[in-house]
Amino acid sequence: MIKPSPELLKLLVNQKMSLVKILKKANPSGLYEVGRPIYCPFHENYHTPAAVIYDDKDSQRLWCFSERKMYYVSDAINLLLNQNPYDIGLILWNRLTPLEQQQFVDSHSHSSFDVPVVEKTKVTKEFEEAKLKFRYGQTDCISLLKTYILNL
Ligand SMILES: [Zn+2]
Repeated sequence: MIKPSPELLKLLVNQKMSLVKILKKANPSGLYEVGRPIYCPFHENYHTPAAVIYDDKDSQRLWCFSERKMYYVSDAINLLLNQNPYDIGLILWNRLTPLEQQQFVDSHSHSSFDVPVVEKTKVTKEFEEAKLKFRYGQTDCISLLKTYILNL
């Protein structure tokens, strides 16, 4: 039996539930559609629709242009329905078979371990010189890039 972390439950909620459906539940008279401008349900938005809902690869999100903020299903559950997204996540979790639970864990565990370590490119003396020449107009961009690529 796998005990899911809060992060995992939140992911599950965000992936398995439709943001459009939850917004309609919170405000049945609202017009919510993916890919169309909508009135943001998270702030007092009356005159011009300020938000858009879109499908990301595994969840629906809402971007509010006024607030410059991203909202997920879990935010809508929390802020609009006043329910705990973790409780709902746990209900969804318990509906999964042990195999599905394992698969869900596996498909999300890599993200925390596989973060690539970005190695800084070695800055060589030649490159530094070429950069200086470029700055003073003694060489063009192509030559600079050539020096750069050759030194990678
Ligand atoms: Zn907003």
